[in-house]
Amino acid sequence: MKTLVINSGSSSIKYQLLEMPEEVVLCSGLIERIGEENSHIEHWVYKDSDLFQTLGEHRVADHRQGMKIVAQLLTEPQHGPLNHAKEVEVVGHRVVHGGEAFSHPTLINDEVTQTIRRLSDLAPLHNPPNLTGIEMARQVFKQATQVAVFDTAFHQTLPPHAYRYALPNELYQQHGIRVYGFHGTSHRYITAQAAQMLGKPVDKTSLISIHLGNGASMTAVQNGQSIDTTLGMTPLPGLVMGTRSGDIDPAIIFYLHDHLQMPLDKINHLLNKESGMKGLTGHNDLREIIKEADAGSKEAQLALEIYTYRIKKYIGAYVAVLGRIDAVVFTGGVGENSPLIRQMALAGLTHLGIGLQPELNEDCHPPCRISAEQATIQTLVIPTDEELEIARQAYALVSGIS
Ligand code: ADP
Repeated sequence: MKTLVINSGSSSIKYQLLEMPEEVVLCSGLIERIGEENSHIEHWVYKDSDLFQTLGEHRVADHRQGMKIVAQLLTEPQHGPLNHAKEVEVVGHRVVHGGEAFSHPTLINDEVTQTIRRLSDLAPLHNPPNLTGIEMARQVFKQATQVAVFDTAFHQTLPPHAYRYALPNELYQQHGIRVYGFHGTSHRYITAQAAQMLGKPVDKTSLISIHLGNGASMTAVQNGQSIDTTLGMTPLPGLVMGTRSGDIDPAIIFYLHDHLQMPLDKINHLLNKESGMKGLTGHNDLREIIKEADAGSKEAQLALEIYTYRIKKYIGAYVAVLGRIDAVVFTGGVGENSPLIRQMALAGLTHLGIGLQPELNEDCHPPCRISAEQATIQTLVIPTDEELEIARQAYALVSGIS
């Protein structure tokens, strides 16, 4: 079944076409800078272990035109994997915020799109462009079944003691102010892959999933279900991220406002775009920071210590709430590629049964197991694949498996 995965952002469309349930990627690509003079198009076709690439720069006025270009590229005469856009049977859409309304992948109809629109208050930067992608795909791939897969859905199993904030009840009851969590598609995928590597059923697998990309989050997974996670009502709290602060004392906001006369929109920008590793070092790319730390920069070294100390602190917290755990799993661009970050985050945790075998950590080409022999908790590195997870969920729903 040809399954198209769409991730529609404010000025971009990313897509991947898979044959399901074989999980074979037929092609993938992205259109960036939609609405600007020079939109950038990249398209890759995978055919019999050969790779064909198409690059382009021209104006793509809006998402409608963008989606039509996707359909053209899929059916492009020379290397297009399809003869006709009608061959796409399922379109799986990434939707960032499903609030409390969506705990599972959902067939899209007008009622569903209205609910996603209503939830835009909770994710004003993400839900509206996700919705535009859905609307355009419903027009361009008319015959396909459209499915929404929500980033928050995996965390709908959080118990109230984990998802409620200690704020007046009506803020939750009337305004939905609570922890929702994000990166759920990645954490769910990692849980399934880890269970496979451990040779256990998913519903008997407990682990700490550590997703370290530009955004970053950790999730405590008990018997296959998310029971706590570091992102909150918004993607700002928890770990130190590329440009986001992670946990801070909320009263800092009043201080910035009252004593430094910063308006709220500036504080919002500061915490989301100018903080985290960028605030500490001037860079949000961990590779640059590691290079500077190696060259002796005290500022870069301290930033790496702050970054990894926060991970370690949450490992301690999640070991406490989970009790028995099978594995600690690293994923995301940083988690998959940086032995140094993994080593710093897990240093000194042997009393918890967590420890690395240095050679395995250094030589890891994920997926791999990098724990020390005497560790009672495995440490795994697993590449995440959110597109595949969306395709799996959409296919399962459409074919009646779930
Ligand atoms: P996103 O969250 O945007 O999906 P990724 O998961 O691809 O991002 O992660 C991107 C980040 O991964 C980059 O900011 C970069 O800092 C980091 N990264 C990639 N390779 C390495 C590496 N070898 N060492 C440290 N960090 C890396």
